[in-house]
Amino acid sequence: MTKEEIYTAIAEDYENDRASAESKAHLLKKRLYEENPRLAEIDSEIMQNGVELFKISASGAYNTEQRENFRVKIDALNKEKDNVLKNAGYSLEALEPRYKCDICKDNGFVGSKRCQCFRMRLADKLYDLSNIGPLLEDENFNTFDYSRFSKEKNKDGISPYENIMNIVMDVMGAVDDIDEKPMHILFYGNSGLGKTFMCNCIAKSLMERGYFVVYMSAYKLFSYMLRFRFGRETDKEAEAVRLLNECDLLVIDDLGTEGVNAGTIPELFDIINTRLLNNKSILISTNLSLADISKTYSERIFSRITGNFNIYKFIGSDLRLK
Ligand SMILES: [Zn+2]
Repeated sequence: MTKEEIYTAIAEDYENDRASAESKAHLLKKRLYEENPRLAEIDSEIMQNGVELFKISASGAYNTEQRENFRVKIDALNKEKDNVLKNAGYSLEALEPRYKCDICKDNGFVGSKRCQCFRMRLADKLYDLSNIGPLLEDENFNTFDYSRFSKEKNKDGISPYENIMNIVMDVMGAVDDIDEKPMHILFYGNSGLGKTFMCNCIAKSLMERGYFVVYMSAYKLFSYMLRFRFGRETDKEAEAVRLLNECDLLVIDDLGTEGVNAGTIPELFDIINTRLLNNKSILISTNLSLADISKTYSERIFSRITGNFNIYKFIGSDLRLK
């Protein structure tokens, strides 16, 4: 899916939601009016009284008593309508379409401006495409539990706490600057230090700003790529591979767990190199050390990463064991 296709899909969603809300309201009204013929009579009486009231006002004749009479009649009719509906188990509002957004009535626009609900819709759509699991809702920079990192300095003179704070500051800056500068980030370090959580935070904050993020474990990524090469992919996998190139940010989680073989190395090089050449963002997390990356993958991959990526080491003891 390209960005245009995503926008088109959202416009279609709006149209469907609007049509569905209106047709539901219409069908309910039709049924209630069939079951309660008095409702149609009331409507036409309200209409007649309204016309009379308008005539008096428009003629300029200032007959307060007459006008008041019509108003009282109209009020009474509205009350009666309300009662008929209540007896049928509904309220007056039930006759109105129930839009998902009351502000734009599921148009997506208020005047020529996009409604505030558009951003949520876009984020939802991007989220659906991104592959990110349901955990994400509570995972953001604010819910990251920094207190779990020790403030004790290690032999390099930095504590895990200072280290994670530095990473977060840098990464938040990179998120803010992504329009000017694509993000090329490698997170490495032992497992259980919050790398995946941090990847989720970045993915989420970009999606909330309307960027198109695709999140893949290395295992899934390479199994898709290899099947794709051999033309054995399902439609869903082919779409996923297409998204890899289209997205604004590609997150590859858990690099090194994919069962590296002669097939995966050129694939990884191709993905990294293509995104670098196209100025597209990429975020990789791995439990491998830098030395392991250089040993496991090709020299070409290692030099692409060290030459172009901001590299962050996660330090501390496993957060999950505490
Ligand atoms: Zn709206």
